[in-house]
Amino acid sequence: MTDFAITEPAAVHLPVAGTDAVFPVRRVYCIGRNYAAHAIEMGHDPDREPPFFFQKNPNNLDPSGEFPYPPKSSDVHYEIEMAVMLKSGGDNIPLDHALEHIFGYALSLDMTRRDLQGEQKAMGRPWEIGKAFERSAPVGIIHTVESVGHPESGQIELSVNGDIKQQGDLNQMIWKVPEMIAYLSEYFTLDAGDVILSGTPAGVGPVKRGDVMQVAIEGLGLMEVSVV
Ligand code: MN
Repeated sequence: MTDFAITEPAAVHLPVAGTDAVFPVRRVYCIGRNYAAHAIEMGHDPDREPPFFFQKNPNNLDPSGEFPYPPKSSDVHYEIEMAVMLKSGGDNIPLDHALEHIFGYALSLDMTRRDLQGEQKAMGRPWEIGKAFERSAPVGIIHTVESVGHPESGQIELSVNGDIKQQGDLNQMIWKVPEMIAYLSEYFTLDAGDVILSGTPAGVGPVKRGDVMQVAIEGLGLMEVSVV
């Protein structure tokens, strides 16, 4: 038994469809502006500039179905994203071997304090207080590659209280999932338990307490998240 000098922090475990086994989370990488229409709505040129990533914390991932409205913001936005869960990793992963490292996929949300993110952008500062706050990444059950394959096209759609707000197709990603894995592995050592949020289509907008977000990706089912 390890003798911990302080209370051991709780490990982050996510549910997997069809099994009682859970997926342990190591790191969370999120790509920015990966759908052209969303890049345009955020005021950027959607040309294929190099990808960029920020990170959330493993324990920001939350499968509970509830999203507590965070403090210090009055403009919290939804961003529907497909989450990619890795079962292995490495450095400098070749593009044609990238898919071999994927364990599964899940619905997820990259919830964002847009007002704080905007202030940080304007000052050239990092985005953590806008992006990596408590429970900022609601996530659905993980579907294994064995059961769903590798979703490369199909509708990605978010509604709030039944009104469609975001709609796109996975095939509109500027940087595809294997490209994200290959690129990240040039800068970081990827490993089992790493999670990549693959970007959001156009239509991001605010939520308020009492709203219910309905999140759907073709092949990955449906998730409802209540803003509390
Ligand atoms: Mn995002």
